[in-house]
Amino acid sequence: MTTTESNAIPAELDLATRGLVLEPGTAEYVVEVTGFNVAVDHQPAAVLVAADADDVAAAVRIAARAGLKVAVKATGHGAAATGPDTILIATRALDTLRIDHDARTATIGAGVVWQKVLDAAAPFGLAALAGSATTVGAVGYTLGGGLGPIARTYGFAADHVRSIEVVTADGVVRRADEHQNPDLFWAVRGGGAAFGIVTEIVVDLFPIQTVLGGGVFFDIADAAAVLQAWRLWVPTLPESVSTSAAILHLPPAPELPEPLRGRTVLHVRFTHVSNTEDGYALLAPIRGLAAPILDTVAEIPFAAIASVHMDPVDPIPAMERGLLLTELTEDALAVFLGTAELPFAVAELRAMGGALHREPSVPNAVGGRSAAFSLLAIGVLVPPIADIVPEALDAFVGRFEPWSSGAFVNMAGAATGAPADRVRAAWDSVTKDRLDTLRAALDPTGLFSPAARW
Ligand SMILES: Cc1cc2nc3c(=O)[nH]c(=O)nc-3n(C[C@H](O)[C@H](O)[C@H](O)COP(=O)(O)OP(=O)(O)OC[C@H]3O[C@@H](n4cnc5c(N)ncnc54)[C@H](O)[C@@H]3O)c2cc1C
Repeated sequence: MTTTESNAIPAELDLATRGLVLEPGTAEYVVEVTGFNVAVDHQPAAVLVAADADDVAAAVRIAARAGLKVAVKATGHGAAATGPDTILIATRALDTLRIDHDARTATIGAGVVWQKVLDAAAPFGLAALAGSATTVGAVGYTLGGGLGPIARTYGFAADHVRSIEVVTADGVVRRADEHQNPDLFWAVRGGGAAFGIVTEIVVDLFPIQTVLGGGVFFDIADAAAVLQAWRLWVPTLPESVSTSAAILHLPPAPELPEPLRGRTVLHVRFTHVSNTEDGYALLAPIRGLAAPILDTVAEIPFAAIASVHMDPVDPIPAMERGLLLTELTEDALAVFLGTAELPFAVAELRAMGGALHREPSVPNAVGGRSAAFSLLAIGVLVPPIADIVPEALDAFVGRFEPWSSGAFVNMAGAATGAPADRVRAAWDSVTKDRLDTLRAALDPTGLFSPAARW
């Protein structure tokens, strides 16, 4: 722990908490504020690596007294930049993980990443609704809705939260569930950040041991024909299938399978969860469209679900933008195909529908349930393209406005400068009004970082 007379906040945090306190100017501080997205610059007044919920509550009270903001970082996959007016709470030491196989639940601390949950649940034949990258934090992901590789079968991750432990702006640790603090419970599940710092969630687990999952990689020359067929295939699929299609500009990286290195490809992802249907037969129309460069679809343990998307695991400087689409017309597809010429690492379309369309048994603030597709484009901010990526991304998603039905908050680009109106389009006006009213009541002084308020 470090303290200096010149910086009263780290000293106060040090006295009031059990966790590690870091202040600017130290190597440990730099390591702690650096997350997955290294393009996001954090310069908080101090970092608290919270040891428990009481630490978080103490930091919130100290920030309130000092007129500072509070922000939170787990893995840095989606954290917005923080400045010297902010105390940053790092959640990595909140690493509780309990699997209750009788109740089919997982109790997950705010610092736990999805892979850890999957590995702990697998021996019981159970699975959790992780996202495409299992290095993402389970809590941050779920608060933003959580749209994962089996989402058409089970819905949003936020639809399967049983209860939440959260520190609100008054510095009090609260439980929220269907019966206690029901408004807070509604808002935190999908309503964006800034309702509190969540220290723990309890989520449902599902009896899934394996899925038929993987990807079929096609040469970019085949992308138009394959995507046209994919567009017409998606509406015929049962809910047991989730799929997405991405144009990837892959680096010549040794960790990639040899045939993919340095190539621009179309990656069709496929996941099928069923004990009765023939998943191979459902995939057959796509497999036969062109000779694939690589086909990884196979029966896989659910804990290997990250192999379906093959998202990067090492830190990168990235910027992202996303929209939800009501339909994927031929014209929209033509715009999407244009990404083959654009300076993006990834442009993907995820098929929605199925269970995503249904309200959960305990309603929440997740928006965009009626969307047909989610669009996401990511640019890597490295020379020589770093300067042109931001404008190209905004122009690209702007071309989808004719088919846009809002945004999905986890993929709207909130942390990397997406316009606030695009991010807030994640909710219809009734939901937005309810969220705003609740936020004004729960955090009247705007303690939680404005970057996370949306
Ligand atoms: C490679 C990659 C793959 C992804 N795949 C998917 C996907 O398949 N589906 C999907 O839905 N999303 C996906 N995402 C988006 C991801 O879910 C969000 O960026 C999410 O916010 C990351 O949470 P985190 O805790 O890992 O990251 P962090 O960057 O540490 O946190 C991001 C934000 O989440 C909020 N937050 C985090 N923890 C807490 C907490 N304890 N209390 C309150 N607020 C908190 C804060 O606003 C914080 O700024 C992906 C992102 C990346 C980079």
